[in-house]
Amino acid sequence: MQVYFDVHTHSVSSGHHTKDTITDLAKKAAEIGLKYLCITEHAPAMIGTTNASYFRNLRYAPKERFGVKIIYGAELNVINQNGDVDLDGDVLSCLDFSIASLHKDVFKPSSESADTAAIINAMKNPFVNVVGHPDDPTFSLNAHALTDAAKETSTALELNSAGISKSGYREPNIPFLVEMLYLCKRKGVYIVLGSDSHGKDRIADFDDSIKILKAIDFPDELVLNYDIQLFKKFIGDKRCKI
Ligand SMILES: [Zn+2]
Ligand SMILES: [Zn+2]
Repeated sequence: MQVYFDVHTHSVSSGHHTKDTITDLAKKAAEIGLKYLCITEHAPAMIGTTNASYFRNLRYAPKERFGVKIIYGAELNVINQNGDVDLDGDVLSCLDFSIASLHKDVFKPSSESADTAAIINAMKNPFVNVVGHPDDPTFSLNAHALTDAAKETSTALELNSAGISKSGYREPNIPFLVEMLYLCKRKGVYIVLGSDSHGKDRIADFDDSIKILKAIDFPDELVLNYDIQLFKKFIGDKRCKI
């Protein structure tokens, strides 16, 4: 199957470990044959990142660079157990989609029930399309509740390369991932591949993620990266509920 896009990348605007611009990222995406690239800077609650005005103005940014179509999103921070996120609906409506993630600098890890409630409540937000790195071992999510909520709220779960790939920077949590993926397969929950590349170097670093999918015979039709029209419909259908 062909991977058409990477759902999760950061440029210099996120302020973390890279000076690469969106132009640098798009050039690399073109070189490796991606048709689309999602740019998902950290939303404002993350230290050192950009502000709400930046995200609001992305609607005027070029939609194509070097033949690669750019999809502008954000990686939102879940800020409390109610699932509130750090950009308002008026800003999120200027973006194509968004990822919501738990980050320890913004949301202190506590119990499985509190961590899981925070992310499930965020999934109820019609602007939230993807849960970022649910396998982050800093937090303890309940895979059964997470996959039920993903199905109910039409939210995809990310298979994030940073905890899987040899070049990744997050501690791996393979037992959780395998449990989550088996539950996605059984319940028909969509997943999405994201490199979480800060800068251009790790864009579409999916070899190890795809090995896991093959090992558990994960259905191709539940991987949104293989079908850009399905990804767009998936986002559009949830936004219709706004
Ligand atoms: Zn993140
Ligand atoms: Zn990220």
